Amino acid sequence: MSDSAQVTDLLHRPLRDLRISVTDRCNFRCVYCMPKEVFDKDYKFLPRAQLLTFEEIEQVVRAAAQLGVSKIRITGGEPLVRRDLEALISQIRQVPGITDISMTTNASLLTAERARSLREAGLQRITVSLDAIDDETFKRVNDVDVSVQDVLDGIDNAAKAGFVDTKVNMVVKKGLNDHSILPMARYFHNSGHILRFIEFMDVGNSNAWDLSHVVTSAQIAERINAELPMEPVEANYRGEVAKRWRFNDGGGEMGIISSVSAPFCGDCSRARLSATGSIYTCLFASSGHDLRPALRESDGQDRVVQELSKLWSLRTDQYSETRTQVAVLRPKVEMSFIGG
Ligand code: SAM
Ligand code: SF4
Ligand code: SF4
Repeated sequence: MSDSAQVTDLLHRPLRDLRISVTDRCNFRCVYCMPKEVFDKDYKFLPRAQLLTFEEIEQVVRAAAQLGVSKIRITGGEPLVRRDLEALISQIRQVPGITDISMTTNASLLTAERARSLREAGLQRITVSLDAIDDETFKRVNDVDVSVQDVLDGIDNAAKAGFVDTKVNMVVKKGLNDHSILPMARYFHNSGHILRFIEFMDVGNSNAWDLSHVVTSAQIAERINAELPMEPVEANYRGEVAKRWRFNDGGGEMGIISSVSAPFCGDCSRARLSATGSIYTCLFASSGHDLRPALRESDGQDRVVQELSKLWSLRTDQYSETRTQVAVLRPKVEMSFIGG
């Protein structure tokens, strides 16, 4: 951190992580995120001119770093559909105070060459989303006929390029892919990759979320434990969202993210930047704060520091801990717009 101070919100939570959505577009149409009925050929994705430039994103990162942010996650939409992402990563890498740069991707476009260039640019970690290990289920989820092998190749390409600790995230939706919990656990047991299950969340308004679609973390753990006994492990750090489990037979670790059944708002230190330059202080927000006017001033970075600091210091978000049926139904921003 340079000259400014760590900012904390009204619930004493520091600002430490910034998730940057670099595009609202994606080559998948995951049924729980960008269902085809909504994101069809008539859907108006953002025109290129409305996206923040890499220079503008860098300015926001510099401002955020002055307020305590050290971790950056690149996300989307699908971040790999944004051209020249490597240039942005090299720019972010130069920002004083930023110690960790990661990316969440569906990995279908992660060729060996792309993985190498991202690594060279300074990307440190990759999280891959994969929701089943059999093609039939996976294609039903992604809805664009991409096969499991394409994603596994992406994971391999990341390893060959030198990425270690690549994590694999699986969103579990009852009736869609919950029969894949055990096959996925078996596949990644002993693989060197940490598989993390994520409870299906009521993000946005397109995925027709209902509590009955959620398989809780306790149910997920119970199903796996019956075949692959495991024990809980201490968190790596305060605020770690995944509850860690270790297989008793030495087959490595896995994790479960209980975003619905045991929320973790108390430690939430994440802000999100949309591709158009709005800041959201919660994944379930209805609206964001547009930083573009500030960015266009001659003293843009200082202005962003001021606005971000004010915004965070007034923050009270704890949506998941106070979720009600009314809140579930109110308008919320889509996850493909602000990033996971
Ligand atoms: N396209 C990239 C990917 O899929 O990894 C990055 C963006 S995606 C929005 C980030 C993560 O959010 C993915 O792991 C995805 O599975 C997860 N996600 C999307 N909608 C979700 C929902 N309703 N509940 C839980 N996780 C969700
Ligand atoms: Fe695309 Fe990721 Fe959403 Fe799937 S979860 S539709 S890959 S943005
Ligand atoms: Fe953070 Fe909002 Fe999620 Fe709570 S609901 S953990 S405040 S993003």
